[in-house]
Amino acid sequence: MARVGFLGLGNMGGPMAANLVKAGHEVRGFDLSGAAVLAASVNGVVAAENMADAVAGCDVAITMLPAGSHVESVYLGKDGLFEQSARDRLFIDCSTIDVDTARTVHKAAEASGHGMLDAPVSGGVTGAGAGTLTFMAGGSEKAYQRGRSLLFGMGKTVVHAGGPGSGQAAKLCNNLMLGIQMISVAEAFCLAERLGLDGAVLFEISSRSSGSCWALTSNCPIPGPVPASPANREYEAGFTAAMMLKDLRLAGQAAASAGAAIPLGTQARDLYERFVEEGHAGLDFSGIIKMVRGNAEW
Ligand code: NAD
Repeated sequence: MARVGFLGLGNMGGPMAANLVKAGHEVRGFDLSGAAVLAASVNGVVAAENMADAVAGCDVAITMLPAGSHVESVYLGKDGLFEQSARDRLFIDCSTIDVDTARTVHKAAEASGHGMLDAPVSGGVTGAGAGTLTFMAGGSEKAYQRGRSLLFGMGKTVVHAGGPGSGQAAKLCNNLMLGIQMISVAEAFCLAERLGLDGAVLFEISSRSSGSCWALTSNCPIPGPVPASPANREYEAGFTAAMMLKDLRLAGQAAASAGAAIPLGTQARDLYERFVEEGHAGLDFSGIIKMVRGNAEW
């Protein structure tokens, strides 16, 4: 069993750290929010005083932070994790961040003699609590083999996506598909409504036809066909529209930096931007059907 330092005990990190405790690891956790540390300590995470205290003497340090700027400030620089730590520690960043920052952090890890994985997740807060997350890991084969079993303590699928930054690349590409697909499913249901076609009937047909996708079969944007989907609870998230917008922005940034064209991704980002600006940041991303339905003039 490993000694784990865990930084970022929020909606995702809190339950992930708790699952590592359940799997038998010794976890010392820190978060800037005292309430998050307290909640994690109820689940057996040892409350650390600060970042250095959390990672002191650990085998592996895990971060689950809001964005690239937080990851940069925690890892890099004079007071950063790499400088503070003994050599040859494994660091796993599970946050969703931009590919360029992930690669910069990998380079700094290598220069300081540490192992590193970028390992963002899919599965949301529900998957984090249930320990069923999917991890997409980027880094060397050696780092992957070192971190793999620990990741299985928090998830049920772990894939080595490739070298440094490949985990983030996989996450952004996946959520690019998801964002576009959700809008396409919403448009199809709104068109069906206008054509007098019952949504439940469209679901019955499309869920078994070529239009089928996760946005339809697991997160259906109309109430009824999929009882667990947020549409049945007034679009209570789930995966928020703000998170989807964040990921589509990251995909746009990655596409610009790599010279790839994502015209539908750009449109999807603009639509989520508008949805969020209209005050729906906290709704599940499937709630965008309300905006699509309300704009028949498009
Ligand atoms: P969150 O805001 O609930 O948690 C992030 C935590 O990091 C906060 O508690 C914050 O106080 C803490 N933090 C920030 N800077 C810190 C520092 N320097 N030291 C210690 N703690 C610090 O966010 P979340 O929903 O848990 O998401 C975390 C990451 O996971 C994000 O990158 C997000 O994009 C990604 N993600 C979230 C979901 C989801 O459904 N929530 C799904 C997949 C991926």
